[in-house]
Amino acid sequence: MYKVAVTQKLHDDGLAVLQKESTVLNLDKKTPLITAKEIAGQDGLIIRIATIDQTAIEASPQLKVIGRPGVGYDSIDMAAATESGILVVVTPGANTLSVAEHAVAMMMMFAKDMLFCDRELRKGNFQARNRYKAFELDKKVLGLIGLGNIGKETARLAKGLGMSVAVYDPIVSQKVIEALGYTYVATLDDLLKASDIISIHVPLLDSTKNLISGRELEIMKREALLVNCSRGGIVDEDALYDALVDEKIAGAALDVFSTEPPPADDRLFTLDNVIVTPHMAAQTKEAVSRMATRCAQGVLAVIRGEHWPHVVNPEAYDHPRWKK
Ligand code: NAD
Repeated sequence: MYKVAVTQKLHDDGLAVLQKESTVLNLDKKTPLITAKEIAGQDGLIIRIATIDQTAIEASPQLKVIGRPGVGYDSIDMAAATESGILVVVTPGANTLSVAEHAVAMMMMFAKDMLFCDRELRKGNFQARNRYKAFELDKKVLGLIGLGNIGKETARLAKGLGMSVAVYDPIVSQKVIEALGYTYVATLDDLLKASDIISIHVPLLDSTKNLISGRELEIMKREALLVNCSRGGIVDEDALYDALVDEKIAGAALDVFSTEPPPADDRLFTLDNVIVTPHMAAQTKEAVSRMATRCAQGVLAVIRGEHWPHVVNPEAYDHPRWKK
């Protein structure tokens, strides 16, 4: 049997895969940093919430693979892992549909004025139905920032609702966007000006930090909704607060925050035109099961010495340990 450590309990479906070929050690991590002592003798490690640094990696010569049930790997010192011939397995696509559905659900909740009316009805205010803020999504323009995996799925769902989809993504060609039946928009400003709903689906990079700030919010339609299910730092939250208070835009729906967890007294939480969820777009039964299962499969495949397609650092296969 191989030996695989998990930082916290893995979803049962992934655990079952692991247990067929390995003894699983649950580290039950409560502290952020993984130590070499904790993973001594382990062939594989699956990190849910914790980080591993160069010191722990260099002191763990037996470790062959680190799995991440998801796509982010900022919790791993990648240079040290590659240098030590440790493959980092991720699970691209496992949560794509769940995140896209979450973004569309947020659009629906806003379009139907559902959250406000729910809160009001519980207070006895049946007249909330008469503020006529609800609207139909049919024929509204959804402006997508980013047409990667999640953006594509969101576009497909929105099309099904009769929305017109416009896309700004500097990496995806006009030909590809138009072949999919969407409107190609060459600049972010033009997308912001034209859209009834803006949904963000880009990674957090230096180039996307505060991509949506005061100037961008200013040029959006006054009745527009901003949806962010990507990463918190992409929207400048102070500028967003001001834009919502000054009614520069009609609302925002946020699954992600610049600080997570956000403080309970976050100013954005005081606003009626904001819908918030706790970074849970990918936390569906299906996505969590898929992420754990695929991560377990990848980790075992690497330990067996097979080439797994979903590794972040395939160059680590050049390490002498894999030449045998
Ligand atoms: P992806 O890599 O498939 O697609 C990202 C797209 O963004 C690419 O097409 C890229 O060309 C485009 N892009 C990059 N910079 C851009 C810019 N400045 N302007 C416009 N487009 C730009 O990624 P994905 O799987 O679609 O995921 C998108 C993001 O969603 C992830 O990076 C992650 O941060 C976030 N995410 C959130 C959750 C959640 O639980 N809320 C779950 C999974 C992923």
